[in-house]
Amino acid sequence: MAILVTGGAGYIGSHGVYQLIGLGYEVIVVDNLETGYKNAIHPEAKFYQGDIRNRDFLREVFEQENIEGVMHFAANSLVGESMKNPLKYFDNNVHGTQVLLEIMIEYHVKHIVFSSTAATYGEPQYVPIDEFHPTQPINPYGEAKLMMERIIDWTAKAFDITYVSLRYFNVAGAHSSGKIGESHLPETHLIPIILQVPNHKREKLSIYGEDYETKDGTCVRDYIHIEDLIDAHIKALKYLLSGHKSDIFNLGSGEGYSIYEMLKAAENVTKQTIPYEVVQRRPGDPAVLVASSTKAKEILKWAPKYNNVSQIIESAWHFHQNHPEGFEV
Ligand code: UDP
Repeated sequence: MAILVTGGAGYIGSHGVYQLIGLGYEVIVVDNLETGYKNAIHPEAKFYQGDIRNRDFLREVFEQENIEGVMHFAANSLVGESMKNPLKYFDNNVHGTQVLLEIMIEYHVKHIVFSSTAATYGEPQYVPIDEFHPTQPINPYGEAKLMMERIIDWTAKAFDITYVSLRYFNVAGAHSSGKIGESHLPETHLIPIILQVPNHKREKLSIYGEDYETKDGTCVRDYIHIEDLIDAHIKALKYLLSGHKSDIFNLGSGEGYSIYEMLKAAENVTKQTIPYEVVQRRPGDPAVLVASSTKAKEILKWAPKYNNVSQIIESAWHFHQNHPEGFEV
């Protein structure tokens, strides 16, 4: 029996594959390589290149393989891009999930762990954000992920499927081997961008606004290490495989850090001064996103191992020093 990982060549999916294989699972990767990298796929995973919106392609994978459960990461994931091109997100993310579910039903695959996001909540009405917080996305990325969650939920109610949706806060860091990590082209995420400066790939960090109502005016985010995040996916998968009911969990550290605090921490880790400029706000960014992950800790028995941002930045720095240009394409 195998686990299908959609988006297994992407940042988060590739770490999922590494951990699953490390634990002895047989892993099937599906990825269209639009934003993922072939080099990020674990050599022991079986790889099918194709698009989850393509029913015939997906059917072929499910026909060939004996799939027991799905970890669904395949999606576009940039807030800024989603504001400019919302239909891309509703097509690839929402429609792609719909097709995946159709084929899961066709092949009687009963469990799915879904990669969701804190962007489903929108502007926080209180922090830390728990799973009871209203979901009012303020960008198409979050809206699409919420629609995907709802589609999965209705499908699970109608068919013999159980799911866990995991709402991530800001995922960062890299696999301890230094072989895989966070790399996008073009890069838009804060930690890789900050580290491009000491890596001599960028002159300075642009901070998107310092007029937010936060401790120092810059956006506050909750950073969670990728290995802790994936550990929660594996616990969620086992939870479903052992017959538990569908549920939704937040995944974060519970600590909020401003952009200035992240910059300082990166300077300490890299032992370099990192120049910056303050520019306009980026549309679609809430001021503060901090998670309550109490539910995941209680129900999934999840216990994150990385407890401060310096450790997270340290692990990202290890990867970026090994891969200053990111992955080869
Ligand atoms: N950010 C920034 N400069 C950058 C990239 C990101 O100031 O070059 C800010 C961004 O506005 C947000 C935070 O860093 O407040 C984290 O952004 P990222 O894109 O990493 O993740 P997101 O919060 O969008 O999931």
